[in-house]
Amino acid sequence: MTIALITGANKGLGFATAEQLGRSGVKILVGSRDSDKGAEAAELLRARDVDAEPILLDVTDPAGLRPAAARVREGYGHLDILVNNAGVLPEATESDRVRGPADLAMFKATFETNVFGAVAVIEAFLPLLEAAPAGRIVNVSSTMGSLQDQLDPESPYHGMVVPAYQSSKAALNAFTVVLSKALADTRVKVNSVCPGWVQTDLGGPENKAAAPMTPAEGATIVAEMALVAGDGATGGFFDRNGPVRW
Ligand code: NAP
Repeated sequence: MTIALITGANKGLGFATAEQLGRSGVKILVGSRDSDKGAEAAELLRARDVDAEPILLDVTDPAGLRPAAARVREGYGHLDILVNNAGVLPEATESDRVRGPADLAMFKATFETNVFGAVAVIEAFLPLLEAAPAGRIVNVSSTMGSLQDQLDPESPYHGMVVPAYQSSKAALNAFTVVLSKALADTRVKVNSVCPGWVQTDLGGPENKAAAPMTPAEGATIVAEMALVAGDGATGGFFDRNGPVRW
């Protein structure tokens, strides 16, 4: 049985990724920081023929990650796929409280989930990924974190200035590269992906209304890299059109 843990899978891209991976026969552990939301999402997935169970997981609570990892170890002995999907964009939803481009509190709040959260989950679950025949980690990033896009006046991302979020995704990308090197002698592959601009709650209602892609469309590249073959990429950054510039 192939087992995947998706953080922040109770809605948005995480839920859509759960549905796609689940439909391809993967057992889904639906990570959610709220037990009711996790249970509801798992029930909805099961109604759509996905083998899903909720797992309580707040990525900003390392102490709570240990019992979650212990549960997976006891239940399955390994973890095949980890999707670090949980993410926040408080600069969009709390824009009236942003105090400028170098707002330390905003940076801390954003990095806590988008960077330290991913590191904490990998720390807790890496032994289980290494115990799998072909462990896969997907870090859900964004082209908004691409330094080359930010520097390129021709890029559609050039005019976007969301300092804490962009810095957090650039840091997550750096971690993907370094981690892939650290894991080079293992069977575990790790990649960053950008799902595109997707209709979710992340950037608030206006963003959701303006976004061109559905969660299912955005989830395609996430699911694809979660199932990347043994001779496939590691330490890369991809969207639905192929490699993304760092
Ligand atoms: P979303 O609908 O707001 O979903 C975010 C998910 O993350 C929710 O399930 C949320 O849980 C969860 N989450 C937040 N903080 C958490 C924590 N501390 N512990 C556990 N779960 C937590 O947004 P989304 O668009 O699907 O975002 C998913 C990922 O895609 C993020 O990493 C985001 O940066 C990335 N992304 C999105 C877009 C886009 O256009 N939407 C583009 C590029 C990248 P609650 O329901 O409890 O809040």
